[in-house]
Amino acid sequence: MKVIVIGAGLGGLLSAAKLSGSGYEVEVFERLPMTGGRFTNIDIKGYQLTTGALHMIPHGPTGPLAQLLEEVGADVIIERDEGMAFMRIFEDIENNIYEDVPFGKFGKTFSLWNRIKLALFMITTRKNPPKDCSFAEWLSRNFDTPLAYQMADSFCGWALSLKAADVPAEEVFEIFENLYRYGGPGVPIGGCKAVTDALADVVRSNGGTMYTDKEVSEIIIKDGKASGVIIDGQKYPADLVISNIGHNFTHDLCKDVDISEEHQQYLDRIKVTKPSAGVKICLAANEPLIGHGGVLFTPSARLVNGINEVTNIDPDLAPQGKHLVMAHQTTQWERTPYLEDEIDLGIKDLEEIFAGKDFEVLLTQSYYNGWPVNRSSSGSDIGNTTPIEGLYVVGDGAKGKGGIEVEGVALGVRNTMKLILD
Ligand code: FAD
Repeated sequence: MKVIVIGAGLGGLLSAAKLSGSGYEVEVFERLPMTGGRFTNIDIKGYQLTTGALHMIPHGPTGPLAQLLEEVGADVIIERDEGMAFMRIFEDIENNIYEDVPFGKFGKTFSLWNRIKLALFMITTRKNPPKDCSFAEWLSRNFDTPLAYQMADSFCGWALSLKAADVPAEEVFEIFENLYRYGGPGVPIGGCKAVTDALADVVRSNGGTMYTDKEVSEIIIKDGKASGVIIDGQKYPADLVISNIGHNFTHDLCKDVDISEEHQQYLDRIKVTKPSAGVKICLAANEPLIGHGGVLFTPSARLVNGINEVTNIDPDLAPQGKHLVMAHQTTQWERTPYLEDEIDLGIKDLEEIFAGKDFEVLLTQSYYNGWPVNRSSSGSDIGNTTPIEGLYVVGDGAKGKGGIEVEGVALGVRNTMKLILD
């Protein structure tokens, strides 16, 4: 059986590694000159910046991605800093008086009544997670403190690049359940590139072939079944096609399709899946700015949702003695024409948060349209199958339920592999 994978991002590479190790003949076609997609490094002045992700794996060495990497034989070390996440709560912003409260203890800043409600919900929502409302709506029904919304926006902005009002409550509670189940974030030693390079090595050592600078222009469909791709006018036949580019772009490559009623329903569903947009600000620091390898959530900031300092876990991600600090902020889709303003405000946030510290802005990056934070915003994923037999979609345009970012990519790949291999 021959499989063609469109795109050498994390989703494509995980699928290619698993299938090539299961006896399939695998060819991966990537349109860029390098593999890794939004999960690889860019070297700037000796700092290992990235094409997308913040060098962070949401459930660290024990989550779905780590498990899948181990299963396919990818040699990656993921380290977790115990303590993992803090909320910076300001008592007095003007005078820079704050406390970094451990993530699991954020309720201590609430009133007694809100603390009692929080303790109760922590038990009841695990059995009966709320449904049919956004996370923000659920909060507004149950808590009367603005800090709860700020914290929720900070968490959803960092983890999903969305506002709490844009995420279904059900998805957020599934994410909390996964945090209980798998634990908090970790950093791959060597950064994102170490992960995608290790996967590319597995594909090659299993006999698979990887092509770069090869853009797929069409998926060949014969008798309702995917049977190969076209690149530069040349046909490449296959028994299965796995697309790493999201449902919408995949559909655009399917030129000769008979639109049945079932297919029309699929098109209606994918039309409403919206990518999530965001801005990343990378800082070069001459001293530690946050001092740990986890996440610093920033609920009081104007736009910045959270910050990490991965050099506390892997010092080689920056020149000797320096620190790489990355801040993320979600961008509402309607604000994408005003990205310069969003970036300026993000930098102002960082100047205030790190007032008096020795750092400079190394690079600002914005993510939307064809190179977003997530191809399908969390909670709007529609699964990995398509109405076309033998055509599957993987990656962050088809994440598994409750999977934050690359953990969702791994869960989606696992679902797809079950469909193909079982
Ligand atoms: P991609 O990486 O986009 O791969 C798709 C590949 O397909 C690309 O290489 C593309 O060039 C190629 N391609 C497209 N069209 C074609 C074609 N026609 N023919 C051939 N090839 C094609 N996740 C985390 O878990 N932790 C984080 O800290 C984190 N932070 C993030 C911060 C930012 C600012 C961003 C943008 C993302 C972040 N993410 C994070 C999300 C994570 O980076 C993505 O979810 C993940 O990298 C997506 O991988 P993918 O395989 O789905 O897609």
